[in-house]
Amino acid sequence: MYMSGAFIPIVRHTDATLEAARAMGICNSCRYCEGFCAVFPAMERRLEFTAESMHFLANLCHNCGACYHACQYAPPHEFAIEVPKAMAAVRKETYAKFATPGWLGRLYQQQGVALVAGSIIGFVVIFLLAFILAGKDAEKLFLAASTEQLFYDITPHNVLVGLFGPIFLFSIGAMAMSGYRYWRLLNGLANEEAYPLAEARQTLSDIVQLRYLDGGGQGCAQDNDQPTQQRRIAHQMVFLGFMLCFASTSVATFYHYGLGLSAPYAMTSLPKLLGITGGLLMVIGCVAALVQRRRRHEALTDPTQTTMDVGFVTLLLVVAASGLLSMALRSTAAMPLLHLVHLSTVLTFFLLMPYCKFVHGLYRGLALWWHNREQKNPSRLQLSDG
Ligand code: SF4
Ligand code: SF4
Repeated sequence: MYMSGAFIPIVRHTDATLEAARAMGICNSCRYCEGFCAVFPAMERRLEFTAESMHFLANLCHNCGACYHACQYAPPHEFAIEVPKAMAAVRKETYAKFATPGWLGRLYQQQGVALVAGSIIGFVVIFLLAFILAGKDAEKLFLAASTEQLFYDITPHNVLVGLFGPIFLFSIGAMAMSGYRYWRLLNGLANEEAYPLAEARQTLSDIVQLRYLDGGGQGCAQDNDQPTQQRRIAHQMVFLGFMLCFASTSVATFYHYGLGLSAPYAMTSLPKLLGITGGLLMVIGCVAALVQRRRRHEALTDPTQTTMDVGFVTLLLVVAASGLLSMALRSTAAMPLLHLVHLSTVLTFFLLMPYCKFVHGLYRGLALWWHNREQKNPSRLQLSDG
């Protein structure tokens, strides 16, 4: 039933989807883990595990690890069932398959570190060129700042708008297209589409609460079979911190264009308070996430994604830490460099949002939405996988 079109990629089985489908075939007979998360109920609604349905099930998985530690068929059993790892491998393929443009998604997966490093250096060079071309006094780059006004001497407002505007719009457009293509794949899993906004509220609640990151209520397994809520808390801190920083930028933009109030703003102003709180949450959440990543049992993760996962969290950490430090050290000679690093890492993050680990939230959200619609509308969403 799944139709490919001009913008819709053709999805065929690969080694990763075949391995995940093999695991689902055994899980569908066993069903011991059906209360752990959304993957198993969605699996039970299927008669056959096509490549398309594996890209759906894999993005429902939150990699909590509960099904690995509960599984009597995990290695050394001859069935060698490792659902978390198998699902992680398929998700990696989803990110590349539905990326827009596709070549950038593939390039990020092959040369992610080089792309991030090159992008940061490139933006620093652009800012320095803009500074020189504007005829600014080069000494300002190396002297301690006397006021926050130096922020805007180093990176003039029009240069910031000229870079951030197009890059942000590009990323939003690329993610919207990727999301549309993935949604079309999900729609291909059914004969009839339900009401467009059906179950949107339930899905939003599931996403905000990270409902399925708790292994059925116990939490996430890390290096052993004792689950904890640490991973969920770290994830929530990063997410909340990111949203507060985004709110800070949005309020500052409204101050500038809506109220005619130009930066710099006082430390007690709303943009600063939102930004500082968000930055602190992101730093704590990212450090906790990196520590937990090191402690995770190797059977729960796909080793080919370690660089991508760690690189993404490290980039977020540098974004948040450089923002906080450039504010805290704004009267020192370190400020210009910190300020340039902060802006360049933020721009790099925006540019690579559609291709880095950030995009998992988009596909997971859409998969959860489809799962909730299937659950609530079983008669309208006639499954066509078989
Ligand atoms: S992961 Fe193992 S225990 Fe859980 S449903 Fe699958 S086969 Fe059964
Ligand atoms: S790792 Fe957790 S979320 Fe993923 S399939 Fe297993 S129980 Fe479900």
